[in-house]
Amino acid sequence: MSLLVTGSIGLDTLETPFGKRENVIGGSAIYFSYAASFFTPVRLVGAVGEDAPQMIYDALKGRPVDISGLETRKGSKTFRWHGSYVKDLNEAQTVQVDLNILAEHAPKIPAAFRDSQYVFLANTHPLLQQEMLASLSGVQLVVADTMNLWITNEQAELRKLLGKIHGLVLNDGEARMLTGKKNLIEAAQDVLKMGPQFVVIKKGEHGSMLCSGGDTFVLPAYPAKQVIDPTGAGDSFAGGMMGYLASQNSLHMSVLRRAMAYGTVVASYTISDFSLAGLQNTSREKIDQRYTEFKSAMSF
Ligand code: AMP
Repeated sequence: MSLLVTGSIGLDTLETPFGKRENVIGGSAIYFSYAASFFTPVRLVGAVGEDAPQMIYDALKGRPVDISGLETRKGSKTFRWHGSYVKDLNEAQTVQVDLNILAEHAPKIPAAFRDSQYVFLANTHPLLQQEMLASLSGVQLVVADTMNLWITNEQAELRKLLGKIHGLVLNDGEARMLTGKKNLIEAAQDVLKMGPQFVVIKKGEHGSMLCSGGDTFVLPAYPAKQVIDPTGAGDSFAGGMMGYLASQNSLHMSVLRRAMAYGTVVASYTISDFSLAGLQNTSREKIDQRYTEFKSAMSF
């Protein structure tokens, strides 16, 4: 099944207890694409400004990611994010965000991508997420991600989006913020009332939870020895999950559960190093090995 992703592409400045990196590759769509590409070919749609360095175009070189939907917009500036995990490795503090091109109109979806069946609307402005969705036909599964910034500043647009998607992936703090419910099961149930058929709540080092109708599934995080940089963990989780789903072409609950386990394993590589380095140093073979290890760690 064809998998399309759209979201942010940009330059990150990252601070963690293990150091600082300035102007490294980042963006939700970049992490997602890299992670999903271990399972299936990916179609990337996004926009950068004319100031984008060559390394952005090279980030996915050698991966089965079609970047013909990556627009370079004249007169625009690339998205930038400065995040810190110095206080809490589980939660990013935004030191500065320069939306730049993300505050403009959505990038164009190439004609050859319009028939995409699986779509992931990675974290970006909910208006752009809706615009992108509107220009696709024949979509079978649409899953979206979001974050606190949009829940606070663009909740009306976000709620419109929720009525148009099948699944939502968000973290625990965001689920509580969106619903006003402290208890995560209650929060998940409230999210389902807003539109999606399933919701995946990511709980950082405490794993993830899937809720859909009467089904609830919980998964621990991979017991990682060292977390160097959590940036992109959520996007990589979603990439592994959606990549596996697209490769299986089934939305059966058991496949969704396995997809979450793959997402968890891929994210464990992302957090092992800064920016994309953790993903660059793994392979499908290593991912499969770790998946087997993860599965046996859970059987009792
Ligand atoms: P996560 O998987 O949640 O850790 O996502 C990390 C990525 O999200 C970083 O590489 C940032 O560039 C990107 N990001 C941060 N803030 C935003 C935002 N407001 N909209 C879109 N992407 C963002």
